[in-house]
Amino acid sequence: MFNKILIANRGEIAIRVMRACRELGISTVAVYSEADKNALFAKYADEAVFVGPSPSRQSYLKIDNIIKAAMETGAEAIHPGYGFLSENTHFASACEENGIVFIGPPSHAIDAMGSKITARQTMKKAGVPIVPGIEEGVSDPDEATEIAENIGYPIILKPAAGGGGIGMKIVQSREELQPALASAQSIARSAFGDETIYIEKYLTEPRHIEFQILADKSGNTIYVSDRECSIQRRHQKLIEESPSPVMTPELRERMGSIAVQAAKAIGYVSAGTVEFMYSKGDFYFLEMNTRLQVEHPITEMVTGVDLAKEQIMIASGEPLNYSQNDMTIRGWAIECRINAEDPLNDFIPSPGRISRYRSPGGPGIRVDSGVYNGYVIPPFYDSLISKLVAHGKDRTEAIARMERALFEYIIVGVHTNLVFHKAVMRNARFRSGDINTNFIKEENILEKVKEVAKEDYEKGKSLASALGADTRKVAAISAAVGTYMTQPKANGKV
Ligand code: ADP
Repeated sequence: MFNKILIANRGEIAIRVMRACRELGISTVAVYSEADKNALFAKYADEAVFVGPSPSRQSYLKIDNIIKAAMETGAEAIHPGYGFLSENTHFASACEENGIVFIGPPSHAIDAMGSKITARQTMKKAGVPIVPGIEEGVSDPDEATEIAENIGYPIILKPAAGGGGIGMKIVQSREELQPALASAQSIARSAFGDETIYIEKYLTEPRHIEFQILADKSGNTIYVSDRECSIQRRHQKLIEESPSPVMTPELRERMGSIAVQAAKAIGYVSAGTVEFMYSKGDFYFLEMNTRLQVEHPITEMVTGVDLAKEQIMIASGEPLNYSQNDMTIRGWAIECRINAEDPLNDFIPSPGRISRYRSPGGPGIRVDSGVYNGYVIPPFYDSLISKLVAHGKDRTEAIARMERALFEYIIVGVHTNLVFHKAVMRNARFRSGDINTNFIKEENILEKVKEVAKEDYEKGKSLASALGADTRKVAAISAAVGTYMTQPKANGKV
């Protein structure tokens, strides 16, 4: 086992990995940028090395600086977290060349899944069902029109090098295709430096269902749990749950075995996720993420497996602690991504000082966060404040616990999407489990968010006036009941 690990990431995921290290008795090295010199993760680590100015390109993405920090501190391995360098083969190779273990898959496995086109080709060959469409890039508009006609509208254009839902275009008819292709190419060129676009059938009312897998260096590969991530805005996940409401033991075994088959086809080692689109009883491979994912805690809650620890142990050459038969699902877990953003104003990011912070607790609640009271959220990175996870004996109890935790959560000073999550938890269709990736639009959730925010605000106001509260109390009370009005006015009114 390693003695010292460097964590090449920031925020909640850096802390998540350091917690695993601490439990395993491994020392930790943080790397931090100018903007993160007061961040919790840099304080939490045993050692912290400054790696550059605030923009990620000059710090968290600077391979040389990170390798140098590892060499200087004597770290034997690097955990990349998610995002940043986690799926960068140059980085994985740089680690290898310098005798440092990269805690993740071998670089050939990252490469195999790096391009969505290559991944589709490989998966098709391995007998894994893929979303209908093509397995090569298309740049000629006439050719694209012909292909789209063959597949049948609606179709979706996707950048081969894509991620984060960037550059994807849904096309409903022939007339829309050419401008959509030009726009997708231009977004792909500027976001990924590669304008290759390919075409898939756009599935209507699909569910996003993914499988967590673990694979060790001795060839043992298992699926851990399924997760449903259909509550999305602009193709980005906001709420995830495990298991999926449509899952049955038979379907889990079928999809899970295919996920294992996908991983084995590319010689995968480490923790990884195979994503599927599920539609009307059929499922299709979407992509594989070759890293620990944001939503990994819900799998940990329902299976009891510590994925971060397993990942570290696998990297050090140890065999898996579990076999497929050990994987049983206990209860239900839901995760809400709590972001510093304004759901009443097109979800624009809301960086700034958290003037008051109290996270929820009690039975079944887990909060993975990287913030504290008085912490200033920098504008340079993602807007994730925390991941709020609720675990219950069944889905009903998990939802009730999530609602209770959202009620307890106090975050003052920045706008948050707490109210968005409250609106979803209250929604009758969400509660019934009848969800798909269009849920937020179909249920007009953004209108509901306004109603919940107004209700919270009125509650806060009446509570405050009943107590004859002053400015500080008004702020605290309104925040305690979850109002989006987080900034008290000088006259004490909210
Ligand atoms: P990215 O890598 O950019 O996140 P993905 O391919 O993983 O893109 O897709 C993200 C989301 O986009 C999916 O979860 C789903 O909501 C939607 N999506 C992607 N492909 C399709 C498709 N063929 N049909 C319907 N929805 C899709």
